[in-house]
Amino acid sequence: MNWETVIGLEIHAQLATRSKIFSGSPTAFGAEPNTQANLVDLGYPGVLPVLNAEAVRMAIRFGVATGAKVARRSVFARKNYFYPDLPKGYQISQYERPVVEDGSLDIVLDDGTRKTIGITRAHLEEDAGKSLHEDFHGLSGIDLNRAGTPLLEIVSEPELRSAREAVAYMKKIHTLVRYLDICDGNMQEGSFRCDANVSVRPVGQAEFGTRAEIKNLNSFRFVERAINYEIERQIELIEGGGTVVQETRLYDPDKGETRPMRSKEEANDYRYFPDPDLLPLAIEEATIDEVRRSMPELPDEKARRFVREHGLSDYDAGVLTASKELAQYYETVVAELGSQAKLAANWVMGDLAGALNRDNLDVTQSRVSAGSLAGLLTRIVDDTISGKIAKEVFEAMWSEGRDADAIIEAKGLKQITDTSAIERAIEDVMSRNPGQLAEYRSGKDKLFGFFVGQVMKATGGKANPGQLNELLKRKLSG
Ligand code: ADP
Ligand code: MG
Repeated sequence: MNWETVIGLEIHAQLATRSKIFSGSPTAFGAEPNTQANLVDLGYPGVLPVLNAEAVRMAIRFGVATGAKVARRSVFARKNYFYPDLPKGYQISQYERPVVEDGSLDIVLDDGTRKTIGITRAHLEEDAGKSLHEDFHGLSGIDLNRAGTPLLEIVSEPELRSAREAVAYMKKIHTLVRYLDICDGNMQEGSFRCDANVSVRPVGQAEFGTRAEIKNLNSFRFVERAINYEIERQIELIEGGGTVVQETRLYDPDKGETRPMRSKEEANDYRYFPDPDLLPLAIEEATIDEVRRSMPELPDEKARRFVREHGLSDYDAGVLTASKELAQYYETVVAELGSQAKLAANWVMGDLAGALNRDNLDVTQSRVSAGSLAGLLTRIVDDTISGKIAKEVFEAMWSEGRDADAIIEAKGLKQITDTSAIERAIEDVMSRNPGQLAEYRSGKDKLFGFFVGQVMKATGGKANPGQLNELLKRKLSG
């Protein structure tokens, strides 16, 4: 039997407001436990929530960026359940009437084709606190600093068909929320995480299979592994005569498997009802217009511009626009260089990305600034050094923090473009290798590479490659 996978993601993006969604408590990460929760966050009687306008503006930004409908009127609802880290006994969320509906986003599949993924809705809600199970023996600690932190829950249509597609979609949302400056995207700190709904069905069957929901995945790698494990599990289960039950599961990264957490609650278990403490959220046309006017250039637009104006491939443009900061770095290099966009792209995606990766740095923490990299590339373009020597110079720039010219000067790496100097080196190599010379002249063309290598060695790799080739051909043929 051939199986098809169906996946829908619910992504939680923590909105980058300074204060909470319904109170003035700060949202900064890493504070001492229970120092950033006030009476509203704790649900004391007699206090009232006040909606944070900045969180609303951020939700509108997301809606506009994904071509969604921004509801002129949406409603906050109480989702009721008991948990120690939820002192109010309910979470304020949006249910029947979310602020954002019917958006979409394009992802690029492995074969390079594009696929549009529908975004069913995005709604505003508050986060719960955190239960700390590790720090206390036989007890759980409760930290309510996170209670009331604003979240945008972004729900996709069940249109993803593999773990790879799910990861591509999640990365695209991650890129987008950071371009929009509405979420810092920090996955270790839990600012960006997702629940993956996974089901399988026989190829050709119209109805969806029963899904399992894998909760709280906070890395792209875990999303991919958890989904693939879940697909295998469900197929094996069904092929063995069993049936998938709808449930919530947890992914264990150490064991690489998903485990049941609880049976899935139905919406009516939560007894959703409109929160009587909050008025419906009304958004004026003018507010949406203002957000529209303040939109930055979005990743897809930027990538199209790189293709159009710089002549980059779709692939390169996609890589370079994956973060706003990387795109900006690249653009600065190109601006300083003038015209060599492809050269700049290759270096940013190659040597620079490699060095950043090796030292586990973000592009904003690069040891070689965009201006310094442009300085290095200028020396390739004006033939001061070859591309190969440039790699050596780059490494020195990275570790010593000096600019290209200083390193080229100090290490004497200037390319030899003086014809007579290259000729002298060639003649020297020829006289030291009479055997090879005779063989070459009797037709063994392959030895050309040997002579190039010898002259390069003799000149410390500094002979201009173009000149060397030309002069060597002439000299060798006598
Ligand atoms: P709930 O409110 O119970 O979380 P929703 O209907 O809002 O359920 O769907 C949640 C997510 O699950 C959405 O992303 C949706 O695309 C996805 N989904 C729904 N049905 C399936 C299914 N059969 N297989 C995989 N994903 C599904
Ligand atoms: Mg859900």
